Amino acid sequence: MNNKVEKYIQSKKDEFIQITNDSKDVITAKYNLIIEAQTYNYQSILYTHIVSNMYTGGAHYIRSDKTYIHNNKSFLDITNFLNDEKSFNELKLLAQHYLAKYAEEKEFELNDEWLAKGTETTIENYEHFYFSENGLTIIFPPYQISAWSNGEIKITIPYEKINDLLKKEYQNNNEETSEVVKITPEKRDLEQFKGKKLIAFTFDDGPNTKTTSILLDGLKEHNAKVTFFVLGSRVAYHQDVLKRAYQEGNQIGSHTYNHRNLLLLDDDNIITEINDTNKAIKDIIGVEPILIRPPYGNTNKHIKNLSLMHTINWNIDSIDWQLKDRNLIKNEIVTYAHDGAIVLLHDIYLESVEGALLAMEELEKQGYAFVTISEMAELKGKELDYTSTYFGF
Ligand code: ZN
Repeated sequence: MNNKVEKYIQSKKDEFIQITNDSKDVITAKYNLIIEAQTYNYQSILYTHIVSNMYTGGAHYIRSDKTYIHNNKSFLDITNFLNDEKSFNELKLLAQHYLAKYAEEKEFELNDEWLAKGTETTIENYEHFYFSENGLTIIFPPYQISAWSNGEIKITIPYEKINDLLKKEYQNNNEETSEVVKITPEKRDLEQFKGKKLIAFTFDDGPNTKTTSILLDGLKEHNAKVTFFVLGSRVAYHQDVLKRAYQEGNQIGSHTYNHRNLLLLDDDNIITEINDTNKAIKDIIGVEPILIRPPYGNTNKHIKNLSLMHTINWNIDSIDWQLKDRNLIKNEIVTYAHDGAIVLLHDIYLESVEGALLAMEELEKQGYAFVTISEMAELKGKELDYTSTYFGF
């Protein structure tokens, strides 16, 4: 799986470099390549969906999608999960039904011919999918079913509708429906921090079950609460650790759904990135986030107007993704530490998590306490508004 993914990413990089080299004279275009991968793990099957967005001029990004599915023995495609050809045909009808429902909800028109072609029973049309406890989720990239402006279309077909089409081992007859349980987060008395130097550690791009859990264990040793800016696309699959983070008194903010550069999106897509994330978070912890960290810190007045959330950037960049070494990351944070600082980290890397905990150990000795963004605002007597971008307090 790793080999395949690395190879694919390298091929996209090569392609991008080739195109940008060939068009060196075009200096007005802001070239950009973003490659993102989502992995889903369900019943010992690993699904990796890679999206590459390339901007080399023109009206919008050129997107390509690739999905690899592996069960520890071999790579799989949709037909490995289905009974027979007849099942595939029924899956097509179900997909069309859920696509129509999706279009209705999002208030756009489907073109019958386009829909028929994009849902034909070929392995390519059903390349991007995964199973979860909710059923079969199929992802249709832009242009497969409808126009670019409608974005990626994701439908989930519940087991009660597809069980009959699936081979026995992939069926799920569990009747339980998941309900949002109300979580009451731990509260703490802020009096204890009066007169202390304060730092807000923030962690982007997660949650990630393994590394976020290690961080949460470590925070307890430093009486620390932190802020997580999570990706909407990840929360359903790492929901237990998200619940735990929230329950233990950490703050959950939005880092949007797909980590796109908001400055390059139209209004509809900006709103989708924001709203889908807020909904995904609420589905798990019961409340919508009030904080947003735009990907790459990129925002403007217009985006802030659309989101009506508190925009939180940072004034200490641990450059953890670059350093990839816990001691260097620790040093970076400790060197620039000051009262009221906001530190940027990523809890998807073990080295970052360990670097953050090492920094806390050192800063604790220097009289620092570690608080969430909202705790920091309260302690500093600051009322957050929707028009500012906060870099520190
Ligand atoms: Zn990020």
